[in-house]
Amino acid sequence: MTEKFKADSEKWLTMDYRPLEIEKEIREFWEKNRIKEKLMDFREKNNVGFLGWVEGPPTLNGIPHVGHARGRVIKDLRYRWKTMQGYSIPFWAGWDCQGLPVELEVERALGVKNKRELLERVGEERFIEECKKAIMKYHKEWVEADKKLGIFINHDKAYWTYMDNYIEREWQYLKRAWEQGLLEEGYYVVAYCPGCQTSLSSAEVGYEDSYRIVEDPSLYFKFKLADSENEYFLVWTTMPFTIVTDMMLAVHPKGEYVKVKVNEEKWIMVKQRVEPVMRELCIEKYEITETLSGEKLEGLKYDYPFKDMVPKQAELDNHPLVHKVVCEDFVDVNTATGVVHLSPGNGEEDFWAAQKRGVPVFVPFDDEVKFTEEAGVFSGVFARDADAVVVEELRKRGLLVAVKPVKHEYPTCWRSHHKLIWLARREYFLRTDKINEKIVKAAEKVEYFFEGPKNRFISFLKEGKPWCISRERVWGAPLPIWVCEKCGAKTFISSRKELMEKALEKPEGNFELHKPWIDRVTLRCEKCGGKMHREPFVLDTWHNSGASPYARFTDEEFKRYVPTDFLTEGIDQTRGWANSLLLEHVILTGKAEAPYKAFLFQGLTQDAKGRKMSKSLGNVVEVNPLLEKHSADVCRFYFLWKCSPVEFMNFDLEELKRRPYQVLSTLYHLNRFFLQNAEYDGFNPREHTLEWVERVRELKKPDFWLLSKLQETVEKCTDKLERCEFNNAAAALEDFVIEVISRLYVPMIRRELWTDNPETLNRRLAIYATLWHTLKTVTLLFNPFTPYLSEALYQKVYRRLDPTLHESVNFESWPKPEKTMRNQALEEDFERLFRCVSLVYSARQNARLKRRWPLRKVVVVAPEKTCESMKSLEAIFLEFANVKEVEYARRVPDYVSSDSWVSTSEGDIRIFLDTHRDKQLLGEGLMRDIARRVQSLRKELGYVPTAIVDAVHIAELTDENVELLKPYLKEMEELVRAKNVYLHGKRDEFEAEWREYRLDKNKIYVAIS
Ligand SMILES: [Zn+2]
Ligand SMILES: [Zn+2]
Repeated sequence: MTEKFKADSEKWLTMDYRPLEIEKEIREFWEKNRIKEKLMDFREKNNVGFLGWVEGPPTLNGIPHVGHARGRVIKDLRYRWKTMQGYSIPFWAGWDCQGLPVELEVERALGVKNKRELLERVGEERFIEECKKAIMKYHKEWVEADKKLGIFINHDKAYWTYMDNYIEREWQYLKRAWEQGLLEEGYYVVAYCPGCQTSLSSAEVGYEDSYRIVEDPSLYFKFKLADSENEYFLVWTTMPFTIVTDMMLAVHPKGEYVKVKVNEEKWIMVKQRVEPVMRELCIEKYEITETLSGEKLEGLKYDYPFKDMVPKQAELDNHPLVHKVVCEDFVDVNTATGVVHLSPGNGEEDFWAAQKRGVPVFVPFDDEVKFTEEAGVFSGVFARDADAVVVEELRKRGLLVAVKPVKHEYPTCWRSHHKLIWLARREYFLRTDKINEKIVKAAEKVEYFFEGPKNRFISFLKEGKPWCISRERVWGAPLPIWVCEKCGAKTFISSRKELMEKALEKPEGNFELHKPWIDRVTLRCEKCGGKMHREPFVLDTWHNSGASPYARFTDEEFKRYVPTDFLTEGIDQTRGWANSLLLEHVILTGKAEAPYKAFLFQGLTQDAKGRKMSKSLGNVVEVNPLLEKHSADVCRFYFLWKCSPVEFMNFDLEELKRRPYQVLSTLYHLNRFFLQNAEYDGFNPREHTLEWVERVRELKKPDFWLLSKLQETVEKCTDKLERCEFNNAAAALEDFVIEVISRLYVPMIRRELWTDNPETLNRRLAIYATLWHTLKTVTLLFNPFTPYLSEALYQKVYRRLDPTLHESVNFESWPKPEKTMRNQALEEDFERLFRCVSLVYSARQNARLKRRWPLRKVVVVAPEKTCESMKSLEAIFLEFANVKEVEYARRVPDYVSSDSWVSTSEGDIRIFLDTHRDKQLLGEGLMRDIARRVQSLRKELGYVPTAIVDAVHIAELTDENVELLKPYLKEMEELVRAKNVYLHGKRDEFEAEWREYRLDKNKIYVAIS
């Protein structure tokens, strides 16, 4: 019977935990039985409510790495958990398909350097097709990663941001903006990337730590005061090329300015900067000759030096306001010289200073940020390359004071890392600044779970800048505005249907809502009858993905699911998706309402040493190769367990293999232990329920204690999940599995299972009923963390013993704490007990006495309450402490002062342990030492714990040890589950497969037959 049982049990749960095999098997089980789809259908029909959710679409432009995996695991955790609570959630995928990153990769693959070459050599049609191919390549990788990770997201219902139906619904946001006067065209100074040849939104400036230390010239130069002999304004800049587009000088109206005599010249600058600047310029001899307020300088004209080289500047010089001093509060009198030169074409503040005065904006740049013809001799030179030329020209004209390289922090393009250049360009803007109050109010109503990210997000939103949504690119959702070539009137189109109705010319056949086809649609101007052409822009890709709450759903679904209950993305999305979602939703609804009720920003994932993962460092851990070798469950548990989701996580493969693996392995072995014993005794969960056990009155204190601790764990785990403290929820599970069940409960009941005495069968069944209830509940609690292991245990242990259970663990209900099972007084009794046990252990350690060696007596000196608890659990205490007798005392008894006693204490508890071992104790201790070796041999030979072996042989014990051991052979037979234990002299006197073991200083030999 034992042999048969052994084979059967092995079939279900192998002797060791093999997660990769389990995961492969369960993946096939889920697919074959369509569990994911059935679960979705089931909850749609049977639920306690709907919870909205929208996927923050991964950009299909990169391979999924562990940082992505961590985010996806958090999403899946929430989905499984809330689904078990009875909710229906649209856990549907979504893909961010368009935008610059995709274009750049395709350009690289096609070997084109810039947009002009792209249009001429490749053409837009082919380019669009290549972009689609590129995203499909990544799509495959992402689907594979989701599959491996066990993410239950529905890929069939995925949204794709480049699809016509999506774009049409995205247009609805713009239509609302258009109607409310929030969508405007205008010249604005935008951050522009010369590499990508497109403007960046303000949210993209500084995105993903794109500030870099760069080197620029630090230039001091002079502009001569007009009509003066030797007076100059002293100015500083790090961007010499902007002198080509210079229009004004600015001073602070309240600043105290001075004329400083240096040699034969007088330099005008702010007073408090004279000393530091002179020191920096190494000028020792100087003298302040005159003081005057900034206001007094206003309106002074200066000689713009490059009129001969830039004819347009000579023309502009005639303008009454150009090349004059203005007063501006933004001038910082505590840096440089307090005199700032203004280039409205190349600076935001400069631009606004010009706008409000009606000063013309001079922007002589093409798309590659090379100077145009208007810039005269600079024509064709890339802006930053003009720096050196400008410095040289100043030198020639005697206007250069000093120049040296300086390293400073400067924003670069987050994609290509080109230094950004500020340019006034014709763009389309969402005037989100006009509704900023509403936006901030909406954001403040959201639950963020943690203060740090909340503050970061809100303070970013408060900047409230207009949102530049136009991009001069190809692969994007088109801006649906047509302009009349004759009268300049504009028309906004909000659907394909409307476009078709109004079209004057259109491409042949079916065409998609993309460039270049949509550009071929012309309309008739309703005002003058002229021809209208589409504005050539596409939309910012953040606008594209930010439209998902409305664009990915139908009207009906949108009503049901938005505002969504919970979204989560990386902390970098404060400037990204979380921002664009919010702005667009406020525009769409006109309400101070975010499209999400809660948003969890996750910390980023770094390498084991805490460095950012990057291609250049070669430390990116990709998901798919990782999960070829490592368990998805262990990874999932590690992501959630290691730290709070809001913290930056250092992903360390070595750490992954230790504790997280140990937790799952322990859960596995506990289930295996339960299954082996329960099957042996014919446990039937439908018959031997907890109610039945109560009727037969077979539950003991350890069982009540375990069931009580289980309720605590259910409550804690659920509460921590609600607060997004996934690490604390995982810690509660870890503690329960490793400490409570494995280290404390199992040792308390193990011996009761070592018999097959029919008279105690009901007691054993009571233990199984307790373990069934506890371990099954724990398996459910683990499901959102480790879905493969939970499903495997559910199928192989629970559903096998009770075939009436659900088809999958995912259909189970999330456990709720049962108040009637909680017994806090009993938990406290046990806590006191375990405190005393650990004191006994440390006393043993001090006296170098193994826990296996029984001792005669322990004295507990403690307050009444502790002694009461101890008395109520005395048998358990004696078992754990491995002591024959315990005495309780309020005061220290005299006899413990003799040498054979050791003592330890903690708080108000003192323990005295009698270390003297007589022959009996030595014999019993020896027996246990040897039994442990036999047990490990049993395990090694593959005997299940319940199997009874015929004989155990022990050879080459010393005569003294034989004498000590003899009285305990019967006890040993029970302990090692053998019918007989035989002692032999020399090992060659008996034929057996001997194993050698060390016993203190000697060698002994053990065999099992
Ligand atoms: Zn760039
Ligand atoms: Zn017109």
